Amino acid sequence: MEKENEKNIKAPLGMKDIFPEERQLWGEMEKAAREEFELSGYYEIRTPVFEDTRLFVRSIGETTDIVEKEMYTFGDTAESTITLRPENTAPVMRAYLEYELYKTKKFQKFYYIGPMFRKERPQAGRLRQFHQIGIEAIGSYDPLLDVETIKIATRVYDRLELSGYEVKINSIGCEKCRPGFRKVLKEELSKYKDDLCELCKIRLDRNVFRVLDCKQKKCKEICKNVSSIEEHICNDCSGHFKTVKNTLKDIELEFKIDPHLVRGLDYYTKTVYEITHPSMGARDTICAGGRYDNLISDIGGPPTGAVGFAAGMEASMIAILNTRKKEREKDTSQLAPDAYIVSIGNETRNYCFKLLNTLRQSGISVDMDYECRSTKAQMRTANKLNSRFTIVIGPDELEKGVIKLKDMQTGDEKLAEDANEIVQVVKRNK
Ligand code: ATP
Ligand code: MG
Repeated sequence: MEKENEKNIKAPLGMKDIFPEERQLWGEMEKAAREEFELSGYYEIRTPVFEDTRLFVRSIGETTDIVEKEMYTFGDTAESTITLRPENTAPVMRAYLEYELYKTKKFQKFYYIGPMFRKERPQAGRLRQFHQIGIEAIGSYDPLLDVETIKIATRVYDRLELSGYEVKINSIGCEKCRPGFRKVLKEELSKYKDDLCELCKIRLDRNVFRVLDCKQKKCKEICKNVSSIEEHICNDCSGHFKTVKNTLKDIELEFKIDPHLVRGLDYYTKTVYEITHPSMGARDTICAGGRYDNLISDIGGPPTGAVGFAAGMEASMIAILNTRKKEREKDTSQLAPDAYIVSIGNETRNYCFKLLNTLRQSGISVDMDYECRSTKAQMRTANKLNSRFTIVIGPDELEKGVIKLKDMQTGDEKLAEDANEIVQVVKRNK
């Protein structure tokens, strides 16, 4: 390859680097989620980033956008292919099934955090590697669990001071009542066939529920005219939905019923929900979830009820930043060490390096200059860094066996006897 080309290597389309300043918010979100999940008995599971392609085809559904055109699939052996996970519910269910957890501990609660991959058309807010945080409660049909998962999602957002989000819920029925409604919906929407977008004309035959999820204005208008799914669900589904609604009211969790809410993945049954944020524009969903009572049997396991959600981390963070003060966007304040060492003259560098290691050993975060720059340049860094303390070691200090410590907040300077004294002062001011 020519040198010129090498210079131009960029990240693949739709992939983003996350730099330390942004990591702050990522960390904050992960911490809030982990704490909230564990408070409710959900523990972390880590599954591989790729799986047997058939897992996603069988669970997500052959006629979904994800399986039809968004998967990164590669040849593995001569007979099989692997796919970078486009979502993590199916992999978690696969693990549950593979390790036969239904035999030993049928009811399990998991959470996951990690990257997902979908070859989406590049557009604002859509990435090809994005991240999701999610929970899965497996092994129960209890509607209280549907409510528990919704409550947990809102608690994570509350903790992150996200205001103005909306919880929308619906029931999309089960394998018993869905075929009937599918027929009705197809009949109703066929009347408007000519006015539907090109994609929805195809969806009409292939996966009519997806028409309800179309983001096109015209299709959205048309969908307002069709009957709601709730009118067509069976007694079992309707009873389940009633309990979910009543329990949400009992715990005073505000929600709206969106009679046309569906999800883009086929495995959902009964309850589906979304958390949206008004600052996001047309694609306003930051968290999506629901029940998937047939997923485990679809991939070869025994009938097992399950419910959970996946929150888009990038989308959630945009919503959070939109509601917080803008200046928090690039918060570098926590990226500075407790102290910065300035060495005067080359001969003090080794001493500084030793001191640096002693301080780090004692739990003080500290850094020094590794570019052999002038004292002036080092002082400039010390001033810019936002570290509370600057340590200065010159030939004088070296000779007297003392360490100069400057408090950058008060301007006070003192001579410390040894590293231990520095540790005490810094720790006292942490
Ligand atoms: P949408 O209709 O918005 O494409 P979806 O049905 O594909 O959503 P899920 O698979 O349920 O969504 O994903 C849950 C959340 O994950 C979404 O609401 C969104 O916030 C986030 N998400 C999904 N795909 C992407 C992507 N390509 N880039 C960034 N975030 C995404
Ligand atoms: Mg999608």
